[in-house]
Amino acid sequence: MHYIIIGGGVAGLSAAIALGKRGEEVDLYEKESHVGGLCTNWSRPPYTFNGCMHWLLGSSSGTSFYDMWNSIIDIDKLDFIYHEVRMEMPVRARNARGEYAAFRLFSDAERLRSHLIENAPEDSTLINRFVNAVCMASKHLNVLPPLWNKGVFGNFRQALTMTSMLTVLDIVRYFGKFTTHTFSEQCVSEWLKEVFRRLYTTPTPMVAVVFSAAYANRGVAGYPIGGSAALTHLMERSIPSNVHLHLSSPVTNIIVKRGKATSVILEDGNEVSADHIVSAADWYWTMNHIVVNGKPYEYKEPSLPLYHSYCTLNLGVHMPMDGEPHFQRLLLDEPLLSPDGTMYEEVELEVFNFDRSLTGGDTTRTCMTINLPTHEGGFWIDLYRDNMQKYRKKKNILAGKLLQILSMHYGSEFAMSIEAAILATPATYHRFTNNHLGSSQGWQPSLNVVRQKGDVGMSVHDIKSLSLCGHWTMMGGGLPIAMRSGLLIP
Ligand SMILES: Cc1cc2nc3c(=O)[nH]c(=O)nc-3n(C[C@H](O)[C@H](O)[C@H](O)COP(=O)(O)OP(=O)(O)OC[C@H]3O[C@@H](n4cnc5c(N)ncnc54)[C@H](O)[C@@H]3O)c2cc1C
Repeated sequence: MHYIIIGGGVAGLSAAIALGKRGEEVDLYEKESHVGGLCTNWSRPPYTFNGCMHWLLGSSSGTSFYDMWNSIIDIDKLDFIYHEVRMEMPVRARNARGEYAAFRLFSDAERLRSHLIENAPEDSTLINRFVNAVCMASKHLNVLPPLWNKGVFGNFRQALTMTSMLTVLDIVRYFGKFTTHTFSEQCVSEWLKEVFRRLYTTPTPMVAVVFSAAYANRGVAGYPIGGSAALTHLMERSIPSNVHLHLSSPVTNIIVKRGKATSVILEDGNEVSADHIVSAADWYWTMNHIVVNGKPYEYKEPSLPLYHSYCTLNLGVHMPMDGEPHFQRLLLDEPLLSPDGTMYEEVELEVFNFDRSLTGGDTTRTCMTINLPTHEGGFWIDLYRDNMQKYRKKKNILAGKLLQILSMHYGSEFAMSIEAAILATPATYHRFTNNHLGSSQGWQPSLNVVRQKGDVGMSVHDIKSLSLCGHWTMMGGGLPIAMRSGLLIP
């Protein structure tokens, strides 16, 4: 069969490699001059900024994601780092000893348990319930992907994992009732209340918190040295010869005739036919560019909230930054008001002192990133389109405020050490990848995504020979989900 794939992000690349290995003829069209989509690095010599990757689920054995990655690439070729402490955060409330103690999100579940009980012994029962769930989940990580897609009793393999399923369902039954915010209300200790409330920048389902803690505890989600591009370069090198990669080749329309997708139109006007068309591009882009018998496709708008986008400030500094936490939250004395109207009481700061490949091995230089999650992608995208001067001005205002925060934190000489700076906004993500409103992971994870699967899954109503893959097509988003959806193309 001849396949056309639209989009060379992680989903499109995964689909291309899997189909190519199956012996299919594949043409992959990517609008940019490089593959990767959101999973990319930005180069400002001597600095390389990691555009996405914090951690990659399936980096080592222990989940079925490892086997899935290995079915398309030799994932062991990547050099992964597993942080002992995933995040550090100062806490405003006092702990049980009346002290101001920082919270450390230890990867090891038992160290996390001791740390929490030491600071909030009055909540031992709740802490034990949480950490026990993390430990139980750690033993049953393999069950999740089969459960997501095929239904509980879908096949023999699932029947074999019955005990795992019951354990997972037990965790989901209890923790499914809570988000980080509502769980924090269960705590007696003001310190622990604050820890859970601020664990993530937005209220996050506690089931997701338990499972990501379990991934960290099992050491199955690491950061690859070299960042995002380390993964996508490996994927690009693994493309079989029967897959033809067309870079700088935007697709403008998907043509459907008599209920079947038959071809795509390229930006240069050429029409290319195939037996099967796969859109690994943004869900909204796909729906808005299907042409059925000469007319735009009419689709049902899903009532699903989007995952947030980001404003990110990437800095290259001529400072070693040794000993700095790799990921921390900085509490702000005064809230930061972004030009898009989002108010931040704290900011996330990543210091890549653990990956010197990003500075070409130079240990006197360091890359840093401040991440500001935002749901106001439309503000930046409209401004970029309508008024470039104003867009730049607003970006400069935000960058200035962030640099002020860093100078207060590191001292006034910090500004002098900055050699490179890039501020990305949702308009940047949208421009380079077409992701709707700059969403960083598709839909916000919720059971509604599963309920609406018929509307937002991997196929399109009434259209044959058209499949969708990518972080918009399955609950959870992120790199492993993008990859997995690519492997499921029929
Ligand atoms: C700041 C940030 C941090 C993140 N951190 C993590 C993390 O630590 N771990 C994790 O698992 N996930 C993380 N993610 C999420 C992850 O990056 C995405 O979920 C994943 O990369 C999505 O892959 P995709 O292939 O589905 O989509 P995309 O990466 O959006 O790929 C779509 C591709 O289609 C191309 N395209 C679009 N329209 C067309 C067209 N008309 N013609 C041709 N090509 C087209 C685009 O150029 C792009 O290459 C992060 C995301 C961001 C933004």
